Amino acid sequence: MPPETHVLDPPSILFPYDKVRNEQSDMIACVLEAVQERKHTLIHAPTGLGKTAATLAPLLSKILSPEFKDKKLTIFFLTSRHTQHKLALDTLRLIKEKYNISFDVVDLIGKKLMCLQPGANLLQGTEFNEYCKSVREDKSCEFYVNVRESVFKLTPHGHKVVDDLKTILPIHVEVLMEACKEDKVCPYEITAEIAKDARVIIADYYYLFHPSIRERFFSKIGKELEQAIIIVDEGHNLPSRIQKVMTSMLTTNMIKYAIKEAKKYGYTELIEKLQILQTIFLNIAQGLSFEFGGQREKLAKKEQFMQPLAAKLDQEYDAFIDEMEVIADAVRILQKHSFIGGIAQFLKAWKGQDEGFVRIMNLEPSKTGPVLKLSHRCLDPSLVAKGVIEQSYVTLMMSGTLLPTEMYKDLLGFPESAKEYTFDNPFHENNRLAIVIPKTTTKFSMRNDQQFSAIAEI
Ligand code: SF4
Repeated sequence: MPPETHVLDPPSILFPYDKVRNEQSDMIACVLEAVQERKHTLIHAPTGLGKTAATLAPLLSKILSPEFKDKKLTIFFLTSRHTQHKLALDTLRLIKEKYNISFDVVDLIGKKLMCLQPGANLLQGTEFNEYCKSVREDKSCEFYVNVRESVFKLTPHGHKVVDDLKTILPIHVEVLMEACKEDKVCPYEITAEIAKDARVIIADYYYLFHPSIRERFFSKIGKELEQAIIIVDEGHNLPSRIQKVMTSMLTTNMIKYAIKEAKKYGYTELIEKLQILQTIFLNIAQGLSFEFGGQREKLAKKEQFMQPLAAKLDQEYDAFIDEMEVIADAVRILQKHSFIGGIAQFLKAWKGQDEGFVRIMNLEPSKTGPVLKLSHRCLDPSLVAKGVIEQSYVTLMMSGTLLPTEMYKDLLGFPESAKEYTFDNPFHENNRLAIVIPKTTTKFSMRNDQQFSAIAEI
């Protein structure tokens, strides 16, 4: 028995299909109320209900309506899943075609993944940003030079690529990247230019929930958080994603490779300094062992690292960071990546805030032997999420696994007044096909070629 459907009322909603499921129209009513009353909202709705259309259609109808036109709102559809980018784009394409309306949409993945420079995808996040910044500044990235005459001015070629692409929107980011490759222009710069006029931006969580990425991105596309309607798709993933980006780590291997790097490029003084840092690092780890019943982790204090380092180096902690950053910039010109730069980034984070973070040393196994990891670890995702949610015009978080919604509301710092909704599965239980295959698993520690082959066979 298929889910019950009806014709959507009111007809002013730009719904892409002829019929709407009953649960879907209930969800549309909640979304309309959320944007009308500016009430942040959490929605648990099972997979298959049609959440993407139930959010994009009413929100788009609102922001394009005469009532909302002057507010200049932009919808940010944030998702961590590749398939969801496509689903959102297909939904928007159907709306455009069905109602013959015009609005710009951009699809965006991480800048590093969009970069056309060979090998750039192998760099760590901060490393990549430093690299991209330096090749833009010294104008050695041909893809950037082909797009921009200056930070705010496009080249005639850049203008042409933007204008051409705007005629075929919405397009998947991979299609845009192919077109940019042919035209030898930076896909990120082109997308950012199109995003200035876009009414819907499909992107990863980081573009809004990583403080420095958001700041740079919003200033580049000329938009304000106060005018952002945020849809967080698969919202149950957001807390761990925020914790991950806000956590910094220093490992035995990073120090080892940084010393190697300093030796390779002849930074003799730095070699000695890094060896001192290594000794202090190992002192913090004292007492950890893999022996049966042994301690594998211990708390560390900010001063345990900062004070002995400054004392033994006879140099201010910040001055040491500055020195390493200058050397890392020089190394990146020669080989893109710098472990010395990675250590400088960690030392900066280590002196960061205490509230909501823990400093901890872990001993972990790895393929190459035991590894020590010293982390400045984020425990409280609301430190980042709360400010974004509060400043946004309205934030809607949805998922098929968002129960209890109250927990996510608290974890991410939604205000007390935020609304919570739970929808039933629209499919009759006899129509739900659940298959359990015990011999396969997607558990991280069990992922290997044998498992992948077994899953592929099924
Ligand atoms: S400007 Fe664009 S192509 Fe050049 S390094 Fe940066 S992201 Fe890559």
